[in-house]
Amino acid sequence: MSVTTDPQGTPFLPPALLALGPFAFIDVETTGMQPRDDRLTEIAILRYDRSGRVEQWSSLVNPGVPIPPDIQAMTGITPAMVKNAPPFDAVAATACSLLEGAVLVAHNARFDYGFIKHAFRRAGLRFTADVLCTVRLSRLLYPDAARHGLDQLIERHRLIGTDRHRALGDAALTAGFVAAACSERGADSVVAAIRRLLKTPSLPAQLPPHALDDLPDGPGVYVFYGVNDLPLYIGKAKHLRERVRAHFSSDHRTANDVRLSRELTRIEWFPTAGEIGALVLESRWVKSRAPLHNVALRRHARAGLLTLPPERTEPAFVPVGERHLEWDALTARDSAPPAWGPFADRAAARRWLDALAQAHRLCPRALGLEADLRARWAQGQDTGSDARSPCFSRQIGRCMGWCVGEESTEAHRERFIAAADSMRLRAWPWSGPVVLEEVDHANGRCERLVFDRWLLVEDGVHQPFDRDIYRLLVRLSERTPEAFVELPALRSTAASEELD
Ligand SMILES: [Zn+2]
Repeated sequence: MSVTTDPQGTPFLPPALLALGPFAFIDVETTGMQPRDDRLTEIAILRYDRSGRVEQWSSLVNPGVPIPPDIQAMTGITPAMVKNAPPFDAVAATACSLLEGAVLVAHNARFDYGFIKHAFRRAGLRFTADVLCTVRLSRLLYPDAARHGLDQLIERHRLIGTDRHRALGDAALTAGFVAAACSERGADSVVAAIRRLLKTPSLPAQLPPHALDDLPDGPGVYVFYGVNDLPLYIGKAKHLRERVRAHFSSDHRTANDVRLSRELTRIEWFPTAGEIGALVLESRWVKSRAPLHNVALRRHARAGLLTLPPERTEPAFVPVGERHLEWDALTARDSAPPAWGPFADRAAARRWLDALAQAHRLCPRALGLEADLRARWAQGQDTGSDARSPCFSRQIGRCMGWCVGEESTEAHRERFIAAADSMRLRAWPWSGPVVLEEVDHANGRCERLVFDRWLLVEDGVHQPFDRDIYRLLVRLSERTPEAFVELPALRSTAASEELD
């Protein structure tokens, strides 16, 4: 299992290609197909440094578990062969040093990468690498070929190797394919193909390999389409390129991303001049195209504010879409009644109240957070004490005593309002509607949107409240108030220009 430097007969890779490296061609033999449950029985690495220096290493590995007979037949690796082989832990350091800083190259790279990652993890080591899959490289360079298995590659490119299905033999054949591609297609086009593949590590196989190449960096909206060209998902982004690619980057995928990439057939995107424009376009499209996997609308439907009715200590949760919510009064510049939020939903508001009570020694009973107790009161049941009993917080010294009459309702209200100030719903800073102009100087795009009291106004109609738009507008109105122009002012300017 010693490392051989510059072994005889390794495939020649041109300097233009090696400049992208180092490359570690790897192949593993295993006891099965599941990286988490099955184990390595053999590992081989063929490492090319940028200078062209080659190191070659392979080792049988004692898997510590039985090898199924069909796998033995395929790989030729029997229990007798691995009985005295080292466990992976014992060779992990060698493997690590050969893989360090290199692009991991393998045929069906996800398989080898998955196994190697789990093997390292079990050995207590973290391992990540840029991964190049030669199946995808072959598909990109030879799009007309029907099949891209290693056997087809051997036949198509007349690759010469020994020990097919053993780790070192297969790793060398994989390097042989890259070498053959360089001489057939020219090193430069292989380099270009590799660059493209490394940027999009796990683009779904059903998409063309260039699907994400032209994604712009700026803000915009993107749509994922599924079968029959039905929209699956609509998203917005401040940086389209980064955001869309993140859906497919293997390290950060969510369960939803995995499902999306399975169903995805086509991606479309629309750059906007700014972030607000992207938000507005997203919500318009989510409404009109009803994509299967969007939760944005439901999300907004549950959002709400906390208000504090006169002379009460207990805030009330009011959904922002509710009719009786007096939006104009709540956002009035002067004398707006207190309101806090918006919160994603009722549970989020409650969590915030809980934290606030703890931080400021407010009484949980006053804030309506002692739900059980109140329910028992309402039903006339014994609460185990009278109404003047201390709340739980009081008993551990975290309440200033509203529950036992030591703090007046008025004083508690005042303390609550002061403590909650950072979440207070902002008053609309202008007297009426404003125009926000977003300009993207890089591509000459410009969009004008009208807002009134934090609501988007389209064709003269106030749109439902949107938390994301609210947050962005608050931020923009503080940082760049000059970007907003009050509508009456705009009208009079236009009028005077006409007069001239
Ligand atoms: Zn209390």
